Amino acid sequence: MIDRSEILGWLVETDPARLEELWRRADAVRRASVGDAVHLRGLVEISNHCVRRCGYCGIGVEHAGLARYRMEADEILACARQAASFGYGTVVLQSGEDYGIGREWLAGLVRAIKAETGLAVTLSLGERPEADLAAWRRAGADRYLLRFETSDPALYRRIHPDLPGRVSDRLALLRRLRELGYEIGSGVMIGIPGQTWDSLADDILTFAGLDLDMIGVGPFIPHPATALGRGELPPAPRERQVPNSELQTYKVVALARLACPHANIPSTTALATLNLASGRELGLARGANVVMPNLTPTKYRALYEIYPGKACLREAASECEACLRERIVRMGRELGTGPGARRR
Ligand code: SAH
Repeated sequence: MIDRSEILGWLVETDPARLEELWRRADAVRRASVGDAVHLRGLVEISNHCVRRCGYCGIGVEHAGLARYRMEADEILACARQAASFGYGTVVLQSGEDYGIGREWLAGLVRAIKAETGLAVTLSLGERPEADLAAWRRAGADRYLLRFETSDPALYRRIHPDLPGRVSDRLALLRRLRELGYEIGSGVMIGIPGQTWDSLADDILTFAGLDLDMIGVGPFIPHPATALGRGELPPAPRERQVPNSELQTYKVVALARLACPHANIPSTTALATLNLASGRELGLARGANVVMPNLTPTKYRALYEIYPGKACLREAASECEACLRERIVRMGRELGTGPGARRR
C-alpha cells in the first residue's frame, strides 16, 4: 500500500528520472494484479440532455445553443451489436442526467442488450433515484460509473452549484450501488481550478477507501460554455493549484494503480485529447488496463461535447476499433476477451 505522504511526494515530483521509477512501479503492479490484457469497453453516448449545471461540463442545461439528441432504443441496440461483433466484452451507456430516459424504457433496453448480445452492461447516467438504479440492476445491468470529481467538500459544492447533495452523499450513493450488486466505478478530474495537491492526495486515498472496481481519471479541459471554462471560479494559490496537464494525469493513473492494484483503470479519451499521438499508450504503460472506444453514431458524437476538441470525434466506430487494436498489439499487450470483470 501507498501512504498519503508518499502520494503527495509523487504528485509534486517533477524530475523525469525519478518519475520513471513511478511509471515502472505502476506498470509492474498492473502486470502482477490484472495482467497484460487490455479490456475494450464500447462507449455509447445515448443522450446529451441534462438537467444539471455542473460548472465544468459542456452539456449542462445552461448551454442553450447546443442541439439536443436522445438515441432510439434500436439505434443503441445496433451499437451494442457492433460492440459484440468487434469482440468487446462490455457496452457502456452514458448520458447527461436525462429524465427523458425513463426507468422502464431503460430496463427494457438493458434486458434486450443482455438477451441479444450477452455483453456486460455499464451505466453512467448521473445521480438517478435509487428506484431507477435498483430496477436497472434487476434488468441485468452489471456496473455503474459515477465520478465524485473531487473529495474536497467546498470545491465539490462550488463546481456543482445545483446538486442537492454533498460529496459525502455521492460517496454514499456509490456504496449503495455496490449493495445493489453493481460493480462501482468512480474518479476525478485533474486540475479543476481550486484543486490542491492535498485534496488530490485525498481523492486517491478515497479510491482505496471505497475499494473501487473501476477508476477513471482525466485532465480537466475547459469548455467555453461553462462557468469553469469562462474562468469564473478562482484557482488555488499558484503553489497549491494542481495543473490540468498530461503529466499530472499520468501520475494520478499510476498512483491509482498503486493504491488499488486490482481495479480496472481506463486510459481515458480526455488523455488522448491532450496527446493524440501517444496519450492512450502512455496511460496503458503507466498503470491503465482498459480503453473505451467510442461507438456513438458520428451524427451525434459532436453534440456530446462535455469538453471541446474530444479525440476521435470524426472516426467511424470501425476505424477506432482497428486503430486501437493495432496500438495495443504494438505495445506487446493482449486484447482482453470476455466481460473483463474486476478480479479480486
Ligand atoms: N452525466 C454523467 C456522465 C458525465 S460525463 C455523470 O455526471 O456522471 C463523464 C465524466 O466526464 C464526468 O464525470 C467528468 O468527470 C468528465 N468531464 C465532464 N466535463 C469535463 C471537462 N470539461 N473536462 C474533462 N472532463 C470532463
